[in-house]
Amino acid sequence: MSLLISWLECLHTDIKINNACSRKILLRSTCSRCADACRYEALHISSELINIELERCNSCGECIIACPLSAIEGILESREFDKGSLLYSSSFVPSVKELLIYKKRGMDAIKTNSTPLNQNWEDVLQQTNQILDQIDESKIKIINNQEDTYLSRRGFFLSLQKVSLQLVKTMTPALWKIKVNEWKVVRYFPDYQFYQIELDIEKCTFCHMCLTFCSQNVFTIEDGFLQTANDRCVNCSDCTDICSEGAIKVKEEFRKKRITKYKFTTNTCQTCGIEFSTFQPEKEKCSICYNRNPEWLSPFE
Ligand code: SF4
Ligand code: SF4
Repeated sequence: MSLLISWLECLHTDIKINNACSRKILLRSTCSRCADACRYEALHISSELINIELERCNSCGECIIACPLSAIEGILESREFDKGSLLYSSSFVPSVKELLIYKKRGMDAIKTNSTPLNQNWEDVLQQTNQILDQIDESKIKIINNQEDTYLSRRGFFLSLQKVSLQLVKTMTPALWKIKVNEWKVVRYFPDYQFYQIELDIEKCTFCHMCLTFCSQNVFTIEDGFLQTANDRCVNCSDCTDICSEGAIKVKEEFRKKRITKYKFTTNTCQTCGIEFSTFQPEKEKCSICYNRNPEWLSPFE
């Protein structure tokens, strides 16, 4: 039992938001997925700050799973595993991302003694299995937990002993201590993409803000093309938040990964004489000269 207590003590850790959080990098970040996921209203977002009200925090870990950038450190205490199965509980609903990650880490069934599962679980399981089916991986099954609920006094104490041992066995670092970066689902499916970036080349002014601020290096420039490596996208919204032209959209699309290429040309601005890149070869002025108020005195004319 003392072994169990020391395990429980070491599992009681506060959550911490690290510097990968969009809010700490991008003043214009609108990300609030962690706060939206928290059922206990323990996370408060104000401009670039996120405060955790520890008295309200229930250590459920929903924020850890929801963060697209794996910026929240902590241990998920609300999930229990029995060997290769996730134990069903009506107190939480896993996300598709979460089930996919567990599947890749060896979980292949949901164990329950109440079938059918509630509708939210069923929906998530169905969506997860659709993705697994698409990539020819075995589906997550539902298996019955055949435990006898009526126990003698001796049986009760024996079962307590069994549960304690089981807890120690299941609270293993491999299952519970998922490292911060391991909550990025894209890491587990290197040949697939979960999101597709759509760039509106009519609106894009080639300001490079998306290239600068995308922490996952989705945008690159190579051989006269602006490219998006869609498989790296985690849907953090930094690019859509930073793009002042509203030229970027990120849509959910699970498929074999592909790189999207946009051809650009380099022209010389007819007004200021400076070289600029554009997706419209016929464009004669750079964006600054093009957008300048014609009533202002031009330093170049
Ligand atoms: S979900 Fe992650 S990136 Fe978004 S605000 Fe919360 S900690 Fe920051
Ligand atoms: S492409 Fe946009 S949404 Fe995707 S990871 Fe980069 S900044 Fe985030």
